[in-house]
Amino acid sequence: DHLLARIERLDGDLNSLITVTSDQARTAADAADAARSRGETGPLTGLPLAIKDLFCTEGVRTTAGSRMLGDFVAPYDATVVAKLKASGTVSLGKANMDEFAMGSSNENSHFGAVKNPWDQNAVPGGSSGGSAAAVAAGLVPAAMGTDTGGSIRQPAAFCGITGLKPTYGRVSRYGIIAYASSLDQAGPMARTAEDCALLLNAIAGHDPRDSTSVSRGVPNYTEELAAPLAGLKIGLPREYFGDGLDPAVEAATRDAIKVFESLGASVREVSLPHTHYAIPAYYVIAPAEASSNLSRYDGVRFGHRCEAPSDLIDLYKRSRAEGFGEEVKRRILIGTHTLSEGFFDAYYTKAQQVRRLIRQDFLDAFEEVDVLMGPTSPTPAFDLGANKDPVSMYLQDIYTIAVNLAGIPGISVPAGFVSGRPVGLQILGTHFAEARLLNVAHQFQ
Ligand code: GLN
Repeated sequence: DHLLARIERLDGDLNSLITVTSDQARTAADAADAARSRGETGPLTGLPLAIKDLFCTEGVRTTAGSRMLGDFVAPYDATVVAKLKASGTVSLGKANMDEFAMGSSNENSHFGAVKNPWDQNAVPGGSSGGSAAAVAAGLVPAAMGTDTGGSIRQPAAFCGITGLKPTYGRVSRYGIIAYASSLDQAGPMARTAEDCALLLNAIAGHDPRDSTSVSRGVPNYTEELAAPLAGLKIGLPREYFGDGLDPAVEAATRDAIKVFESLGASVREVSLPHTHYAIPAYYVIAPAEASSNLSRYDGVRFGHRCEAPSDLIDLYKRSRAEGFGEEVKRRILIGTHTLSEGFFDAYYTKAQQVRRLIRQDFLDAFEEVDVLMGPTSPTPAFDLGANKDPVSMYLQDIYTIAVNLAGIPGISVPAGFVSGRPVGLQILGTHFAEARLLNVAHQFQ
C-alpha cells in the first residue's frame, strides 16, 4: 500500500509504469502474508516489483510499449513471470519501455517518454527505462528488464542502480515478446548486486519451452558474494577508453577501478580488436531478426487492426502503418532489406562472421583476465529530446552491444555522478560467470 501510494503520487511525472496492477498486487500480497503465517517464507516472499511491459503476464495488458499491442491482454505468463510469482513476489505493475525494446532513451514508447528521477530533464536510458526509473525513484525495490544490446545495463547506469544481463540462455525467453531472438535476454534490475543475485536465483534455469535456454545447473548466486577479491585479474579494454568517451565519465570509471586495486585486484590493459564493428554488425543482425519477429503483427491474429479494410493487403498495410512507431518501422525496413535476395550475403552473412570474431575477442581476453571493466555508457544521461539522430543514438551502446553479440554476461553498478547525473561501471565475465560478476560488484558496493 505504501508503494502503491508512492506510485500514485510520483509516477504521474515520471511515467515509469504503463499499467499499475493494484488489484492483482493486493491478492498476491495477501497470498504472501498467508504463506508467511504458515512459515513458508523464501527470500522474495512479498517482495514488490515491476515488470517490463515486454513480459507476458496472464490477464494483464502487455503492450511492448507499442500502439500495436495497446489493448493486448496476455493469455499466459512468461516463464520469468511464473517463476517470480512462484517465489512469492508481488508485481505492482508493467514498466514503460521503448517500443518493442528498440531504443536507448525510452523516448520511443507509444505511452510517452519516461523521466530520469535524478533529473527530470534527463532520459532514464532505454529500452528498460521504466524499470530503471521505478527502482531509482523508490517506487519498487526491484524490476525485471530485458537486454538485447544494453537495455538493462545502460538504463541502470543512467538511473544509478544495478542491472545484470545474464549469459544468453541462462534465463528463459518464453513469453517475452521477441525483438532479436539470438540476442534477447532477461535480467534483474535493483539497487544492489545482492538484490540482483536473489532475483537471478529465482529466474535462472532451463525451460523446456525455450529451446535456447541452457540445461546447466543453477548455482546459488548469493553464496559467493562475500568471496575476497585478492588476486582478481581485471582487464581494461583499450577500445573502451578511447574517442567519444566523456572525460568525466572516464575519470569516474578509473576511480572505481582503483577501489578494486585497493581490494587486492590487479589491473592490466587488454584489447578487443573488433569492437569497432559491433554496432554495424548489431544493426544488421538485430533488425533482421526483428523484421522477421514483427511480421506476426498482421492485424489478423492479435494486435491493432485498422478500421474498415478494403481487402487483405489493405488490412496488413494500414494495421502495421498505424500500429508501429517510427523507429520500429525503420528497423523493419533495414531488416527486410538486409535479408532480401542479393543483399543477404553482403550484409547478414557478413555480420554473422563479424559476430564470431567479436565473440572470439572476448574469449581471448578471458584467457588472460577474470573480468573486464569499463564505462557502461560513454556519457551520463542526456537531456530528453537532445539525441534526435538515430545513428548517434545507436552509438550510445558502443560498450554494451558487443556483449550481446558474444552472449556473455555483464553487470552495471553505480560508479558516482557526473554533473549530478549517475554513471555506471560495467563489469563483464565469460559465459556463465554471473556468480563472479555479482561477487565483484558486491565487493564494490
Ligand atoms: N539500444 C539498442 C537498440 O535499440 C538495444 C536495445 C535493447 O537492448 N533492447 O536496439
